[in-house]
Amino acid sequence: MAARPAPYLDELNPEQRRAAETLDGPVLMLAGAGTGKTKALTTRIAHLLNSGRAQPNEILAVTFTNKAAREMKDRVGRHVGGVIEGMPWLGTFHSLCNKLLRRHAELVDLKSNFTILDTDDQLRLLKQIIVAENIDVKKWTPRWFASIIDGYKNRGWFPDDVPPSEDKIVHCLPHVTTRVSEGGTGATRQVVDIYRDYQKRLITLNAVDFGDLLLHIVSIFKAHPDVLEKYQRWFKYILVDEYQDTNVAQYLWLRLLAQGHKNICCVGDDDQSIYGWRGAEVGNILRFEKDFPGAAVIRLEQNYRSTEHILAAASGVIKGNADRLGKTLWTAAEGGEKVRLIGHWDGDEEARWIGEEIESYQRGTRGLDPIGLNDQAILVRASFQMRAFEDRFLTIGMPYRVVGGPRFYERMEIRDAMAYFRVVVSEDDDLALERIINTPKRGLGDKALQTINAFARENGVSMMDAARTVVADGAIKGKGAKNLAELLRGIDRWNAIMRWSTQPGPDSDAVIDLDEPMVERPEGLEAPLSHVELAQVILDESGYTAHWQNDKTPEAPGRLENLKELVRALEEFENLQGFLEHVALVMSNETEDAAEKVTIMTLHAAKGLEFPVVFLPGWEDGLFPSQRSMDESGLKGLEEERRLAYVGITRAERHCTITFAANRLTYGQWNAAMPSRFIDELPEQHVEVLTPPGLYGGGFGAAASASPREQAIGASDLMDKASKADVYNSPGWARMQRNSARRSVRQPSEARNMVIDAAATPAFDIGERVFHQKFGYGAITAFEGDKLTIAFEKAGEKKVLASYVKSAGS
Ligand code: ATP
Ligand code: MG
Repeated sequence: MAARPAPYLDELNPEQRRAAETLDGPVLMLAGAGTGKTKALTTRIAHLLNSGRAQPNEILAVTFTNKAAREMKDRVGRHVGGVIEGMPWLGTFHSLCNKLLRRHAELVDLKSNFTILDTDDQLRLLKQIIVAENIDVKKWTPRWFASIIDGYKNRGWFPDDVPPSEDKIVHCLPHVTTRVSEGGTGATRQVVDIYRDYQKRLITLNAVDFGDLLLHIVSIFKAHPDVLEKYQRWFKYILVDEYQDTNVAQYLWLRLLAQGHKNICCVGDDDQSIYGWRGAEVGNILRFEKDFPGAAVIRLEQNYRSTEHILAAASGVIKGNADRLGKTLWTAAEGGEKVRLIGHWDGDEEARWIGEEIESYQRGTRGLDPIGLNDQAILVRASFQMRAFEDRFLTIGMPYRVVGGPRFYERMEIRDAMAYFRVVVSEDDDLALERIINTPKRGLGDKALQTINAFARENGVSMMDAARTVVADGAIKGKGAKNLAELLRGIDRWNAIMRWSTQPGPDSDAVIDLDEPMVERPEGLEAPLSHVELAQVILDESGYTAHWQNDKTPEAPGRLENLKELVRALEEFENLQGFLEHVALVMSNETEDAAEKVTIMTLHAAKGLEFPVVFLPGWEDGLFPSQRSMDESGLKGLEEERRLAYVGITRAERHCTITFAANRLTYGQWNAAMPSRFIDELPEQHVEVLTPPGLYGGGFGAAASASPREQAIGASDLMDKASKADVYNSPGWARMQRNSARRSVRQPSEARNMVIDAAATPAFDIGERVFHQKFGYGAITAFEGDKLTIAFEKAGEKKVLASYVKSAGS
């Protein structure tokens, strides 16, 4: 067939071109970040189509995310002039396997309309099985079983394939027939047996979990050579991006399919393997040449993405890993800006500063051309870090998007926690009660909930009142009723703690409203609780914290961190009510749907992407590298963290800024944070250490000959080196003072003083002219705690937080 001209090939360098044009036989492209692996892969697809080697549906192409799949389709379309009808077999492992399994479901005793279970369903099913087996669910939770079974599935093991050394024994509760007194020793069960039952039940339910999508297909391919052969013949070309992050099951699947034409092209970078915790095996990339003898191995060395300093900084960090292939990387983009490094007082300062930097890139300062918000990104190690940025950006009206997950206050665990706070603050909040009444699971079925709702509607009372009556009347029964009664008692108690802790004491000179009945001291409570302590009590006593602690899915630790971050955020407010109002306010400020937005995402989600401007906050030991991953996996964990640092820096095209905070407030506790050890590994000559204005005095950056880490440590050692006046004047210091004052409050009378104190903190007067970043100039008409009501000259009257307002002088 006469090939159409292929101008797209001219965009490639000779090695990339070899990757795009070596169409026959196996090809492995092993190269560092930004060397154009994905570009070469995309061009290869275009070339296959354009040269008539394959029809769009004869190409199997695997990407890491659905987004990457869409982008690849778009780019291929552009190269071949938009003539492709679509590429049905371009997608993620899950989407491709789902499609295949629907066609052959009957071969594994499923119907083609099988359901894909979500985590909740998966756990419920496991629980049924382990309860039936008389296993102690408290000790061996469904989550625990699920994570082991998922691990087996990632390694491609059905129950019969699990090696005995990988199996585990669990004990059953004492059972009549095995009572020790009767000579029995108590029964045990093996995890593999539970796994076997679980798989059987799934088939009965005509259902699969995510791991099954791959596993079933692999087993079909193994048991039915005719089916395998059909696809081996059908898929003339197979392409895989981000190959370093495939797990064993995915690898087996690929290897089976590729044995036909052997036209498989995998691209990857061992230095970017960051999903070991989810079962990815970097070994897959290393044994490619063994599995496919005669493979063309192509190495790319020119990085087209980043400037010299950025690339050198990333290379300097990754050099610290012992276990790597090692690669040469160079860039023609000489010079440019060095990687910038800056320390801040705390996480809020960090967010404020980064917000200002983004605006100055947007305006074009320091002689730079303006860089739009779409071209700027903040990449965090842990999702809880996002909250400070979201709050800040909502307040100053900077449009942003959170990629790879909902925004902080929209996360499931945050919404759940806030719903608890809402019912405590206002028991008429039906929506909130509805959200948490059976979260964590209290054994309330649909019928019980219908009974409560119906009673509320018929009698025109709140759901809480209805629940009380229904429980008292015995209209619902059993375990659910008992648990619900306990929840209602909890809510009453938390509400009483809140009221008692904040009521003026007998020796206070506050005006006491005599019509308000005095609140009795809640039983068992010695001293008043601050709203922060109360929030923690609510989450703990309700069982919500335990619910996530017992959860063994990979997401659970992140959710617990988010909950801690939520409690931490409360520190800045006077009470729960004020906090809930704040959230409602900031969320409603975000109305306009701007086309240009800053991206906030995790480092894990940023793989394969690039941005002209990248901010990397939170480079502190314990946060990054993450303590958890070092505890769980030792040196291996540290090396994976280091690869993540490499992925982070190499996302930047022109500007990369690394930041850390001298103090992190976690769980209501200030921790003096040490700058990340990865900062130590940044090669000095490619880093510029910045001095935050007015915060660190002359202490930071003064010793020009010091290494970045020495300078950085100097920065965190604030009290010694910085001029005290500067520190005391900083907003971080003021806030810390305020919070510790609040924490030390123990007596009701002091609690009242605290309120007055906090109200005085903003140090504004009624009538004072002020400036707010988003709403401009205005005059203060009222304040309440740290919330000000301001009549803005342009924006009208609004409630805003005092910390975002500057005095405009008189
Ligand atoms: P990562 O490892 O981060 O996934 P990658 O190796 O897949 O990176 P690409 O994303 O394909 O790299 O390319 C990085 C950047 O370099 C892209 O902006 C791409 O358009 C550009 N690029 C790649 N090859 C060339 C080339 N030969 N000439 C000019 N620009 C190129
Ligand atoms: Mg790529």
